[in-house]
Amino acid sequence: MSNKLVIATRNAGKIIEFRRILDAISSGAIDLIGIDQFPDLIDVEETGTTFEENALLKARYTAKMTGLPSISDDSGLCIDALGGAPGIFSARWAGKHGDDKANVEKVLDELKDVPDSKRGAYFICVAALVMPDGREQLAQGRFEGNILRAPVGNQGFGYDPIFAPLGMSISSAEMSAQEKDAVSHRGKSLRAIAPHVIEIFGGLR
Ligand code: IMP
Repeated sequence: MSNKLVIATRNAGKIIEFRRILDAISSGAIDLIGIDQFPDLIDVEETGTTFEENALLKARYTAKMTGLPSISDDSGLCIDALGGAPGIFSARWAGKHGDDKANVEKVLDELKDVPDSKRGAYFICVAALVMPDGREQLAQGRFEGNILRAPVGNQGFGYDPIFAPLGMSISSAEMSAQEKDAVSHRGKSLRAIAPHVIEIFGGLR
């Protein structure tokens, strides 16, 4: 079998992290393919009510359409003071899908009266691996922290500029790629699913 694995997302920030983390896990032995290589694929509507359901929707569709093993994630930011929101709605919290700037502004506005002691939050990532024959695996990772009062830093994507990892005085948009991957929700979930990826490719010979 080939070592082809399709990354089932169009989010540019996620694609960079998927490639980085999966390349590190496999020492570059997995042939990672973007869904831009399959022009007929449409954007799957995230109609699930959980991160798990949405991650599976994306990976199942991609595996079915490409006939190749596919990996996706569904991820988001869960803020204590907002009862866990934006959660599965993180990408479209301000209305338009993927408008990171508007999403960040909305969160800062919603938390403007929330004191520092109550600004706890975590990122969550559920990774889904789906084989064309129907085999499926899920793995989860979390990244705990606090919401800042203004954006800082220009690395990463999404809510990174307003997320201060627990015990750190910088935002996750100020971390190096390696620092973020070592502790992030995506790093943890992809490393947790890695043994299954390696298994389907027969140990990555
Ligand atoms: P989805 O998984 O495509 O529904 O989108 C998840 C959304 O959560 C992203 O568009 C970001 O807004 C946010 N998000 C997920 N992971 C991260 C991260 O590592 N840093 C910053 N924002 C993230």
